[in-house]
Amino acid sequence: MATIVDVIFVGTGTSGAVPNVSCLTDPKKKCKVCTSAMTPEGRKNMKKNTSMIVRYRKHDDPPNARLRTVLIDCGKTFYDSALHIFPQYGIRELDAVILTHGHADACYGMDGLRQWTLGGAIQKSINIYLSDETMEVIQRTFPFLVDVRHATGGGDVATFEYKVISPDTPFTIQGLEFMPLPVHHGTYLSTGEPYWCYGFKMNDISYISDTNYIPPETMKRITSSPNRIFVIDCLRMEVTHASHFALPDSLDAARHVRALKTYLVGSTHRVDHYGLEKSLGELATSEGLHVAPAYDGLLVVFNDDGTMTEKSYIDPEPKTVRPLPTSNK
Ligand SMILES: [Zn+2]
Ligand SMILES: [Zn+2]
Repeated sequence: MATIVDVIFVGTGTSGAVPNVSCLTDPKKKCKVCTSAMTPEGRKNMKKNTSMIVRYRKHDDPPNARLRTVLIDCGKTFYDSALHIFPQYGIRELDAVILTHGHADACYGMDGLRQWTLGGAIQKSINIYLSDETMEVIQRTFPFLVDVRHATGGGDVATFEYKVISPDTPFTIQGLEFMPLPVHHGTYLSTGEPYWCYGFKMNDISYISDTNYIPPETMKRITSSPNRIFVIDCLRMEVTHASHFALPDSLDAARHVRALKTYLVGSTHRVDHYGLEKSLGELATSEGLHVAPAYDGLLVVFNDDGTMTEKSYIDPEPKTVRPLPTSNK
């Protein structure tokens, strides 16, 4: 048993991250999203690889104990995100890292974790939870992170303990249960078989970073109990991508789940954070649906009365999220 205290959006963008260098070096500066990302007013348009931290208390932890901390995904831009976000929110020891799938934006930042375990700087080792497909990717990509005999020189590499999960079995990390949410994330061109990515449900949070299709059995797991937060992939505004949701798909899922608040993640530089946030704000009045794009560095605190408070060092004005009356339409 565990009580979730808060979640932190470490990254909220797609694999290439936003801004794109090609847009910043374009002499005509045609891309307003990328250009604005470099200014203080446009800061929420700066979106690194999607990743989230969940912090919680185990039921028998003393009140002054440090918060349990689980990182979901550790992609290419992880270290740069951590540089800003970890000191801001006092994040240090990691109880575990969970990998959703084996793509570069989900796990290619693993080498950056060496600063946690080298010489026991923060901790002796980190538990990594992953599927067997993702384990194969790690073995191929970072052989030295699986078996130190593959390292050269001093062999100064991170120390990990791998825990292979199964798609239908919940697992527990320091008292908090994680139920896998298997979703399609594209198709193998060779076989036509779906490529599986894993979201997770923990207490009243459901998290799906990458998907183009949520199977009904998985949707049942999400809606089996109420959700305070639903995090869902939203690559772009219009047409569904071969391996990602676009806005209409994300909104369909949000209407189905009806979480207290749905946060969109994984967007490209074609999505302007501020424009999207404004237009989705109207759904609160028309449908009683709280949906907004998340942004890097957003902290969402779970209050005891069931509401949530959004805070950030980027946007210091805290906002409380309360249930909205459902429309009669
Ligand atoms: Zn751009
Ligand atoms: Zn992916």
